[in-house]
Amino acid sequence: MPLVVNLRHLEAHDIHLKGELPAAELDIDTRDEVIRVAQPLVHDLEAQKLENSILVQGHLRLNLECQCVRCLKPFQYRLELTGWTCHLPLQGEDRVAVVNDCVDLTPYVREDILLEFPRHPLCNPECRGLPKTSLGRVKNASSAGKTEVGPSAWSELNKLKL
Ligand SMILES: [Zn+2]
Repeated sequence: MPLVVNLRHLEAHDIHLKGELPAAELDIDTRDEVIRVAQPLVHDLEAQKLENSILVQGHLRLNLECQCVRCLKPFQYRLELTGWTCHLPLQGEDRVAVVNDCVDLTPYVREDILLEFPRHPLCNPECRGLPKTSLGRVKNASSAGKTEVGPSAWSELNKLKL
């Protein structure tokens, strides 16, 4: 279901938008190999009409597929915007595009989600990077070769917590 508010409906009553937006529709190009958007955006939003604008407030959640920049381990990062607010003018220079009485919220959601992306994703704030000595397998963390780092107990635990 696209993230769209119909202005005529909005004139009559507030609109509650609750559901999931497929990753393909959110269409975030991370241009980044350590963060991928594969899961749908979960949203629970309330839109109301103000005099010359629309006010949207609510909750956004998106699980990102990340790769730890220190140990290269894949993990999930839960990006959550509680109390997200978006004010969309219907008049003036900054007015939003209205197509067939509808305003698409997707670009505004996309923009704010992108701002919340982790700059340097870490599987764990304490991550110390690739193991150096334990098994003597990984001696040089900077070698760019494909070192197979399977999911460890830690990432399994993280999954359980999510
Ligand atoms: Zn890590």
